[in-house]
Amino acid sequence: RLSSTSATSDTYKVVVVGSGTAGLSVANQIFHRFAAAGKSLNAGDIAIVDSAEFHYYQPGWTLVGSGLRSKSTTREPLASLIPKHLTHISENVKTFTPESSSVTTASGRTLSYDALVVATGLQINWNGIQGLSQALVDSGSGVSSIYSYDTCDKVWNDIEGLRNGNAVFTQPAGVVKCAGGKHQLLIMWMALDRFKRTSRADKIKVNFYTGMPTMFSVKKYSDVLDVLRQERGVGGFFQHNLVSVDSANHKATFKKADGTTEEIDYTTLHVTPPMGPLDFLKNSPV
Ligand SMILES: Cc1cc2nc3c(=O)[nH]c(=O)nc-3n(C[C@H](O)[C@H](O)[C@H](O)COP(=O)(O)OP(=O)(O)OC[C@H]3O[C@@H](n4cnc5c(N)ncnc54)[C@H](O)[C@@H]3O)c2cc1C
Repeated sequence: RLSSTSATSDTYKVVVVGSGTAGLSVANQIFHRFAAAGKSLNAGDIAIVDSAEFHYYQPGWTLVGSGLRSKSTTREPLASLIPKHLTHISENVKTFTPESSSVTTASGRTLSYDALVVATGLQINWNGIQGLSQALVDSGSGVSSIYSYDTCDKVWNDIEGLRNGNAVFTQPAGVVKCAGGKHQLLIMWMALDRFKRTSRADKIKVNFYTGMPTMFSVKKYSDVLDVLRQERGVGGFFQHNLVSVDSANHKATFKKADGTTEEIDYTTLHVTPPMGPLDFLKNSPV
């Protein structure tokens, strides 16, 4: 049973940390489910804590990279998406103290809760690949990624600008956003389709390098995708994990399953970066 709280105190029935797709959905669902059960919460009983200026519709970045959408349509000011019945605390959470059912924000404010939801998403580890961050900000590097707002439009520029050569698409070993990791494949298929429709496919070799042993994490889909890959003439290099990018010389280095490395030349390189838990969560009691 949840205790009664007022909207103005720093004590809430529910604190939701993170207002991405998960946090916003959960906070709203909790509010509406209580209402549907005839136990309406008061406005302000649920706090949603996030300092972000914008909320991003991340699946839209695949469409931006495919030239089908402008990137400005993939974000909205966060404050405009938070309904009045939720209290928006525009700060980030720094520490969790489950013993006292509270969290502390970056400014030192303590928020107490009856129930806590942590929905802070995954961290993109751009620095997990040597040279990647520099390559992404260099407009002439040929290196791009749909995995951020800042870089997703560069993907389409590189696809449209490519006339011949080696178009490389990568997937890291380990977890990635989007179940099974299908978007690194989708952007590759979209690029290949574009090359075909614009009569460039015979001059561009598309290659898929993945740190994983298969095309996809679910076998029955993986098997079909591998057949499609071969039918479409796309090279497949498995257990090849991208570890460094030398954008000045257009070279990418992969670590293989046996521990050895392989360096290749690329003309364009689409990188799906490694991802993992946020630093502030790693050593937290959560
Ligand atoms: C290119 C791309 C394509 C995708 N396509 C699909 C698709 O087709 N289908 C699908 O289901 N999924 C897709 N996804 C995945 C989907 O977008 C994510 O799974 C989803 O956005 C995750 O939502 P989230 O709320 O968990 O995290 P996020 O949306 O990342 O939000 C996390 C929030 O937590 C906040 N935060 C971080 N740290 C703190 C802190 N210390 N304190 C407070 N707040 C904090 C951040 O500011 C952010 O607002 C795609 C993702 C990408 C990148």
